[in-house]
Parts: sequence; C-alpha cells; structure tokens
Amino acid sequence: MMESGSFVCQVWSRSATLDQMSPANPSKPEPMGEFDLIAWIRRQTSTGGRISLGIGDDCALVQPSSGAGVLVTTDMLMDGCHFRLGEASAVEVGYKALAVNLSDIAAMAGIPVAAFVAVALPRGDAVAIAQGLHSGMAPLAGRFGVELAGGDTNAWDGPLVVTITVLGETTGRGAVRRSGARAGDAIAVTGPLGGSLASGRHLRPQPRISEALKIHERVSIHAMIDLSDGLASDLGHILVESGGLGALLDADSIPIHLEALAACRLDGRTPLEHALTDGEDFELCLTLDPADYDRLAANLPDGVSLFRVGTIIREPGIRLQHADGSIEPILARGFDHLAPPR
Ligand code: ADP
Ligand code: MG
Repeated sequence: MMESGSFVCQVWSRSATLDQMSPANPSKPEPMGEFDLIAWIRRQTSTGGRISLGIGDDCALVQPSSGAGVLVTTDMLMDGCHFRLGEASAVEVGYKALAVNLSDIAAMAGIPVAAFVAVALPRGDAVAIAQGLHSGMAPLAGRFGVELAGGDTNAWDGPLVVTITVLGETTGRGAVRRSGARAGDAIAVTGPLGGSLASGRHLRPQPRISEALKIHERVSIHAMIDLSDGLASDLGHILVESGGLGALLDADSIPIHLEALAACRLDGRTPLEHALTDGEDFELCLTLDPADYDRLAANLPDGVSLFRVGTIIREPGIRLQHADGSIEPILARGFDHLAPPR
C-alpha cells in the first residue's frame, strides 16, 4: 500500500477486532482497520474444493480440473455509473457486482470457481459498506459454488468502486465463444427483455449459469453472449465476431419483459425498442442449429426458458421483420462508455 501527498489511500493502523472495545469508552467499539476487515471477510469464507489457498496469503492457489480450460473475467462497477449508492444499498451492489461476472462465465457455458474482490471504499463509511457488499455476494457465491479467494481493500475520498474477477472452468464440451454463429442458425434468448434499468431489476440479475450448462450438455451452442448492453448491441458482437454475418429478427417473437411496458409509460418509447436496446437484462443470447432449437424447445431442461427471436443470415446487419412482412434495419448500437456525452 502507498501513501503520498494529501489525496491518499487510507492506511488503517489500528488492529482492534470487531469485538474489541475502546479502553477509553468500554461501550464504544474501536473502528475496524483494514486487516480486521479482511479477517472478518475471511471468517465468513470457507475454502475447499479447487481453492487450496484462499484469503490470507499474497496469492490464492487454485487447482484446476485436469484438462479444463480456465476462464477469467473481470467487471468494474462504479458509483454514479452502474448504481447510485443510497438508491442502491451496499448489499445490492455486492450482489450485482458478483452476478454480472457470473453472467460472463455463463455466456461461455463455464463453471464458476473463484471470485476476487477489489474495492475502493468511500472513507467514512468504509467498513459498513464493505460488510454490506460481502453480505450481498455471499449467498450468490454459495448458490453457484464460487469461493471468495482474495481481493484488495482500499479507501479514499472518492465514490465506491467494486471490481470483481471471477475464475471459471470449461466443461468437457469446451467454451462457447461469440465467434461460432453460422448462416441459418436459430437465434434464441433465455428470458424476456427490457425495462431493467427503470424498474431496478438491473440490481438483481440472475446469472444463467445452470441454463447455459444444461443447454450446452444437450446440443451444440454455436455462439453465445450475455445481454448486458441490449439485444441489438450484443447480438451485433456475435455477428461481427462470426465473420460479418447478419440477423433477421422477428418483431413479434421477441419476449418483452413486463417492466418494459412500465418503462414505456415513462418515456413514450415502444416496448419493442426497450426490449432491443435497454441494457442489463443479463439473459443469454445464443445461436444454434434450428433443428437443435426445435428439439430443445420441445423438451426444455428443468428451469430453462428459451425464446427463438430470429435467424442468422449472410447479409450483414440486423433487420427487424414485422407481422405485415415489412423489414426495417436496426442499428447495432448500445451503451458505449467512451462515447462523447450527448
Ligand atoms: P498484499 O498487500 O500482499 O496484496 P493484502 O494485505 O492486500 O495483501 O491482502 C491480504 C489477503 O487478503 C490477500 O489474500 C488478499 O487476497 C485478501 N483480501 C484483501 N482484501 C480483500 C477483500 N476485500 N475481499 C477478499 N479478500 C481480500
Ligand atoms: Mg493487496
């Protein structure tokens, strides 16, 4: 850790434990320091499985399954950009920060193994926020068998920033990439889309880990992505990575979330526009042989929803076909962090 000048990362020097009382005032607990907080997090965490060394050393030690590929993903969430602390609690932010990383593992049809949590905590309320973040992550990690195996703890005079890195493993069927779509493939999504930001659903994404694994086990998924920026944008990545293909979407088949209908009343845009361009649905979009889609749809694995929304075509670009047969091009454009402010 480093300290220089007046704008510094906080160094906590006290070593009081959570339970330790201030000698001057026996009823007032000493504030927790960095190492007390890490010790607290460590006490909440159990290691076993693939993590032979978790929190407490300079690195974690992970034992990969033999033959498995290691998947690595990282996502940063910033107060004021991905959430607003106050409107969202630290518990919700912790949940979301882990869930969006798990969603990336799902998008490769992988099995999540370990999570690493790096935080820049706002000074003043640092410990309570860190504990809240942990309370949001822990049940989700437990649900998916992910071990919290390390991280980094900092405090500063800035807003909350949480960066989580998740390690995962491929199954024997390998990782599914964005680049494998073929002309003629069915395009499917795992759930209804739109209205996530307006409704607050963006704070509670459901990582489609088990859905992806169940589908991957039954059929060959040609290409897959998780929908973080909106179907029109994220499907565009599959098309570009797959060598410049196109997509014909069927307007009436796109599953629209009920919350997209509520969002329409706020901004006057159509439900379909919301479903195509709202971000943060965190459903999966996949392409597969249409015969495989039909077989799957006729006998869906337990807990899996799947909606066919269109077909991969040779002609580049995304087109939307309406019930009257008319076809309109749509722009594959989603949220861009580096776009100039509008
Ligand atoms: P170093 O200075 O060697 O990087 P740290 O003192 O930062 O070590 O961290 C000590 C241990 O605690 C490491 O195993 C690290 O991965 C873990 N750790 C630190 N902060 C967190 C956190 N917020 N969540 C989980 N583990 C953490
Ligand atoms: Mg460190």
